[in-house]
Amino acid sequence: MKDKKEKPIFVTQPAMPPLEEFNELLKQIWGNKILTNNGPFHEQFEKALAEYLGVKYISVFANGTLALMTALQALRITGEVITTPFSFVATTHSLWWNNIKPVFSDIEPDCFNLDPDKVEAAITPQTTAIMPVHVYGNPCKIERLQQIADTYSLKLIYDAAHAFGVKINENSILNYGDLSILSFHATKVFNTFEGGAIVCPDEKTKKRIDYLKNFGFADEITVIEPGINAKMNELQAAYGLLQLKYVDEYIAKRKEVADTYRNQLKDIQGIRFLDDIPGVRHNYAYFPILIDASQYGKSRDELYEELKRHNIFCRRYFYPLISQFPSYRGLPSAHPENLPVSEKVAGQVICLPIYPGLNMSEIEKIVNVIKMK
Ligand SMILES: *Cc1c(COP(=O)(O)O)cnc(C)c1O
Repeated sequence: MKDKKEKPIFVTQPAMPPLEEFNELLKQIWGNKILTNNGPFHEQFEKALAEYLGVKYISVFANGTLALMTALQALRITGEVITTPFSFVATTHSLWWNNIKPVFSDIEPDCFNLDPDKVEAAITPQTTAIMPVHVYGNPCKIERLQQIADTYSLKLIYDAAHAFGVKINENSILNYGDLSILSFHATKVFNTFEGGAIVCPDEKTKKRIDYLKNFGFADEITVIEPGINAKMNELQAAYGLLQLKYVDEYIAKRKEVADTYRNQLKDIQGIRFLDDIPGVRHNYAYFPILIDASQYGKSRDELYEELKRHNIFCRRYFYPLISQFPSYRGLPSAHPENLPVSEKVAGQVICLPIYPGLNMSEIEKIVNVIKMK
């Protein structure tokens, strides 16, 4: 039965600052006529972001995928990179665009992030880097991964697209590894319509990244190598500057939604969800639940369809696994036998709607469909 009159509930809805405040910034852009190429808002935004996130250097991008592709160029990564199949396709696509062979490694059942022991077992003489993802904003086993990277002299590049604002014991998760990449896409916790960034620990690397995102130009007549056009424009940067004022509020509202779900779903047989980790400042980017069909009485896909019939549109992030797409499934590491945990989680997961504007009656409606037998 479809509730035709009620408006649909989607998995996410972008949080936006007051339009009047953005109008003021638009007037400034119209006044100074600088639209891109390291303009005043771009500069202010990078400074404000570094301060908010608690990182040393950050370079903003037109989107997160270009940031991932450029990060690999910045560190001259070649050969093989060990990565996770349980992510958004852009993680592996960034390797493909750089002519790097992805090597898929399995995830852990408790946090859905790369299993460090499996990573170590997947290293070959061609391996140059590890590219883990802080899936759903939950921190990877950062110390163990760093230890492996150090032991084998590998670079460690985090796809931190989900991890805006996440901290461990007051320290940003973005301060681990060689580089971390953010996405500011409309569906993420912090958005600039589209956008992204690379976080790096030193000025020299930041300079190289800045050259690479602007065709390789170091100055008017010096091109260091074939860079790309991945610059963030002034509209995005001005909007991002405004968003920074509100992002703590956004995260607090997301936490309320997550707390309500946990409270409402905790006694349902066959449904599992992740809890907060002590010492971690979470951002509540997603609310994944795992369905054990034999206990719950319905499969994940049956629940997904049932929710759709009630005008509730969840997403099965991350099903199918990246390793199952035609470009990758022929790789030896993509074989399901190599990735049993990833396969299992991808078959059970469903992400429930979570965003700052989701109200209690909407959450109740979602929970009632899940409780229906
Ligand atoms: C969103 C996302 C990206 C890509 O970011 P865009 O800004 O959309 O290009 C990369 N990796 C992960 C894990 C993502 O979720």
